[in-house]
Amino acid sequence: MNKLHEMTIHQARTLLEKKEISSEDLTRSVLAQIDRVNPGLNAYITVSGDDAMAQARQADQAISRGETAPLTGIPLAIKDLICTKGVRTTCGSKILENFIPPYDAAVIKKLRQAGAVVVGKLNMDEFAMGSSTEHSAFGPTRNPWDPTRIPGGSSGGSAVAVAADMCLGALGSDTGGSIRQPAAHCGVVGLKPTYGRVSRFGLVAFASSLDQIGPLAKNVTDCALLLNAVAGYDPADSTSVPRSVPDYAGFSSSDLKDLTIGIPREYQSTGGMDPDVSRAMTEAVRKIEDLGASVVSVSLPHTAYAVAAYYVIAPSEASSNLARYDGVKYGRRDTDAETLIDMYRQTRAKGFGPEVQRRIIIGTYALSAGYYDAYYGKASQVRTLITDDFRKAFERCDVIASPVTPTPAWKIGEMADDPLSMYLSDIFTLSANLAGVPGLSVPCGFSRDGLPIGLQLMGPHFAEDTLLKVAYNFEQATDFHTKKPNLKDIS
Ligand code: GLN
Repeated sequence: MNKLHEMTIHQARTLLEKKEISSEDLTRSVLAQIDRVNPGLNAYITVSGDDAMAQARQADQAISRGETAPLTGIPLAIKDLICTKGVRTTCGSKILENFIPPYDAAVIKKLRQAGAVVVGKLNMDEFAMGSSTEHSAFGPTRNPWDPTRIPGGSSGGSAVAVAADMCLGALGSDTGGSIRQPAAHCGVVGLKPTYGRVSRFGLVAFASSLDQIGPLAKNVTDCALLLNAVAGYDPADSTSVPRSVPDYAGFSSSDLKDLTIGIPREYQSTGGMDPDVSRAMTEAVRKIEDLGASVVSVSLPHTAYAVAAYYVIAPSEASSNLARYDGVKYGRRDTDAETLIDMYRQTRAKGFGPEVQRRIIIGTYALSAGYYDAYYGKASQVRTLITDDFRKAFERCDVIASPVTPTPAWKIGEMADDPLSMYLSDIFTLSANLAGVPGLSVPCGFSRDGLPIGLQLMGPHFAEDTLLKVAYNFEQATDFHTKKPNLKDIS
């Protein structure tokens, strides 16, 4: 039998229900694993050990009374931009270093209702801006497969905590790839739901027309169980959609004969694609074909404009959303300033890191009078074209398959002085956010250096169930998800 913290949610749930293990033992085992490997990986910003043990005891009591919910007693961890009542929520930023939310985000309420134990808060790029978790005010997170490499970002802490068994599952957020890309680099499953599927009430806003919360998990079944718990309408989020939630874990081993998988032509001609990623992709598509699906070539003609459109829209919305951090209502305030204007200036100059400042400057420029039409307005038109590309492609196929990233995880520091290269590495993930469609990353191979590679599956709005079905059957037919990073030398 696996060590307790190595279990999947699905395995642990079965044993908890049969009372063969207790949530206290499980949570203790997770906390011990955090003590062992977190110093070397830096996935957690805050560990709430005592609180987690108290929740675990309550879960055990509920189980002994026969009152179980879908995640009763399961230790989970949360990206540090989702508000947790009484537990500080930093957003990876100095400006929110001491911010303790007075309320739980909607997804946290839902996880608590489902019985989950919240173990702590996970590292991330400051305000979720980045693809490497190097832009955290709390230091970079390291990839457990090779600690000299980035884990991806911005939900790097979430992916690493799952990959290194420091929690059984996690929540992240995805504005342009921040769930799928770290999931791919760390060899776990990550899902960005359709825009509007999961409430963002209590999520610190980055780019409001793109942000979604979603799960990162050890396998597809766990990913579906987490989505079951957090999906659904919430009147407190005006963008959440009143639509019933199916049982996302209702898939079974079946052939994929009724499905057509589309391979976007434009994604194959992308420059800078690593040969190991191409090879893993080709093999993954062949495997899906073996499972019965038909494969067709589709076109997403405006793909080349996705990076440019996203990197105007996201910073513009960020510049507006981040205006609230002025030292008055939230978090850090500079106390040396002599005038009010100086206080605003110094608070923001000292509180925000360089990448966040860069985005605020770009976004403020793009939204300013005289430039709006040329930048935000134009980018929004391109966004409509990209959305239309997907609509047309989904007339010909049920699911689009592509790489998640053009290369495996790069070395920490490698792109530190080259923000543009880092932006370009988001080429395969940004479009799903611009179009609002769901996207999933499932492990599909390893590079020659032993680094995980992810397969991305994208579907029409609200087709999460189809993505999970394809991913589950792919997972059953492969063994990538059973491989674990070697953590022996990490401490
Ligand atoms: N890498 C992208 C960015 O830096 C996406 C981040 C995200 O999805 N939060 O904006």
